[in-house]
Amino acid sequence: MNLSQRLRAKTMERYQLPPEECGDAQLFHALMAVTQDLSTARPAPDGARKLYYFSAEFLMGKLLSNNLLALGLFEEARDLLAGMGRSLAGLEEQEREPSLGNGGLGRLAACFLDSIAALGLNGDGVGLNYHYGLFRQKLADLKQQEEPDPWMEAESWLIPTGKTFSVPFGGFSLPAVLYDIAIPGAHTGTAGRLHLFDVPEPAPAPAHGIDFEKGDIPHSLTSFLYPDDSDRAGQLLRVYQQYFLVSAGAQLILSELEERGYSPETLSEHVVVQINDTHPSMVIPELIRLLLERGLSMDAAVEQVSGACAYTNHTILAEALEKWPLEFIETAAPQLVPILQELDRRARARSADPRTAILDGEGRVHMAHLDIHFGRSVNGVAALHTEILKHTELKPFYELYPEKFNNKTNGVTFRRWLEVCNPALSEWITAHIGPEWKTAPGALEGLLAFQEDTAALEELLSIKAANKERLCRALRERQGVELDPASLFDIQIKRLHEYKRQQMNALYVIYKYLEIKGGRLPARPITVLFGAKAAPAYQMAKHIIHLILSLQALIDADPQVRPWLRVVMVENYNVSWAEQLIPACDLSEQISLASKEASGTGNMKLMANGAVTLGTLDGANVEIAQLVGPEAVYTFGASSQEVIRLYQEGSYRSLEQYHRPGVEYLVDFLVSPELLSVGDPAALATLWRDMKHKDYFMALLDTQDYIAAKERALSDFEDRTAWARKMLVNIAKSGYFSSDRTIAEYDRDIWHLS
Ligand SMILES: *Cc1c(COP(=O)(O)O)cnc(C)c1O
Repeated sequence: MNLSQRLRAKTMERYQLPPEECGDAQLFHALMAVTQDLSTARPAPDGARKLYYFSAEFLMGKLLSNNLLALGLFEEARDLLAGMGRSLAGLEEQEREPSLGNGGLGRLAACFLDSIAALGLNGDGVGLNYHYGLFRQKLADLKQQEEPDPWMEAESWLIPTGKTFSVPFGGFSLPAVLYDIAIPGAHTGTAGRLHLFDVPEPAPAPAHGIDFEKGDIPHSLTSFLYPDDSDRAGQLLRVYQQYFLVSAGAQLILSELEERGYSPETLSEHVVVQINDTHPSMVIPELIRLLLERGLSMDAAVEQVSGACAYTNHTILAEALEKWPLEFIETAAPQLVPILQELDRRARARSADPRTAILDGEGRVHMAHLDIHFGRSVNGVAALHTEILKHTELKPFYELYPEKFNNKTNGVTFRRWLEVCNPALSEWITAHIGPEWKTAPGALEGLLAFQEDTAALEELLSIKAANKERLCRALRERQGVELDPASLFDIQIKRLHEYKRQQMNALYVIYKYLEIKGGRLPARPITVLFGAKAAPAYQMAKHIIHLILSLQALIDADPQVRPWLRVVMVENYNVSWAEQLIPACDLSEQISLASKEASGTGNMKLMANGAVTLGTLDGANVEIAQLVGPEAVYTFGASSQEVIRLYQEGSYRSLEQYHRPGVEYLVDFLVSPELLSVGDPAALATLWRDMKHKDYFMALLDTQDYIAAKERALSDFEDRTAWARKMLVNIAKSGYFSSDRTIAEYDRDIWHLS
């Protein structure tokens, strides 16, 4: 049966209607069901070893187009729907985005699942089935408000498996109910799975905001991703969540091992566990515990588990490196305590350096240390990041275990981030170099042959212009804002964090606002777009959102500035927004303080879609800059070595930076009469003081250099042909950042699945 026949059979069976007479919701659900049938009919790939990718988040995005593409039915579906006067994008309006993730780490996990499936590797994801996500962001009264973000409906991509595991907490146990999401592999006949554990009786959404009964573990354990941990109950809940994930996941691993006919003594031969950041680190002691229960000696259990587990580090920010009080684990999972103590004893026997201990003098468990001692691989996520881990952050560990350290520069799936989100550009690429790039993104380099082809460059500019129009329509429909598609689209989309320095971008907006006020007009109007959620308890991040929204309101109300400069914050930035924003971007803002962004993946998606990067030499920006060359990227700011030195010496003085000419008047604008009349004076004054006195991420150090680099980019943008050439070079060189390449390296160096 072809797709058309399948869809007809499905709508007749469900609604007794032919597809043409179905409403959008019916048609969407029928197409989802057809897609689901085809995916679940596929076998798992084979392989002697199986990978389990453990992650607290999987930021999947909508799945209809993506899964149709993987099944090889994207074009057929598009044409079929067009014949009925519908579109895939239209039907996808009916789909809710799974709220199972938060930012780059979760999106990386989703890209990895897509690539693991596409390469036909025997590997599954393991996570939790959150009901209300991180939160849904509302922007009202120039502030972020948080609401639950429910996504599961009667029909969703979740497949009930009927499997349940019992998780033994201190004093009670809780069934972990397993749901799966099928992950069809592109260009293979196989499919992987995302395994998601849930409580049997989940609590309903809170009536107001995202406050809920954190002590009600049996019902609220899977309510939210990263519940507020500013109090003890919140911190304990996170430990309960983590143990629930790893205990159920470890039991799943051992039951599948047994089903495959292998004994627990051979775990490391048949299983790989990739630990995505430290949230799933307790899988190590939990697997050891389960092997002890099955009769292995401590030595044998430690050897098998260490041989199976591998750890990915995602950050050098101290506050993001988890350290749980042992007392919390004693409450949530007391059976792990003697194992952790034994592992600490063994770690201390290997190294006398107290900086490598698992249990510290304050009774805390260092989760990353656990992973490094008792895993066989430690990887960073970009070349620079791995070097910083080896020589600075994790130096004592690198000296102990040099053979464990390796780099795996992140990647993104070009299926979602080019083929699905930017069909016009995809067709243009195929028209010029053929379809090989879809299976081998390195082939994009073939585009370099068109650098002097003015007709090709013109087409590239038209595609960008059309994508900007498409974004303008989406913003008009969803937020009621009217933008000028002929303006330059300058885009910063990522979680809100001081180290990512949205505040520095805001200082640029202030600079440009004051220039325009002074009669110095830009060559072309500029539209500065932001998308960012702030963690609910992160006050400074919320103040930065308030600053951006205040600038947006100030400029919108100013007839002198508005024609030349606009600021827009998209509400509830998520994967669906990213798919609209990325193809429409001219200038990609990647301005983190050098050394702080481990890799970034937004930078890669934007590059592949023909945006030019304005960035610091941080994370994967370094590799982007090397690949495209100085003509096709704008770099600025202090180097990672300078920044690391400033931190080591403790010699950065934000007040001195503030007093530099060209900086002070920009910061002081936060408390100017103009802005105070628009925004909340207390919030603006607090941010003003914090930026002067607590500029921990050195925004003021780089502000002037940033402004100069951005001005250069804006002026270069006016030579449209030269700019199109920069776009072309970025697209051509982006193939390296395919997650298919990243996953092939994980398999080659760490997993050895086939
Ligand atoms: C790619 C992506 C991110 C990560 O962006 P960075 O710029 O690398 O921090 C975050 N959120 C969404 C929705 C994404 O698609």
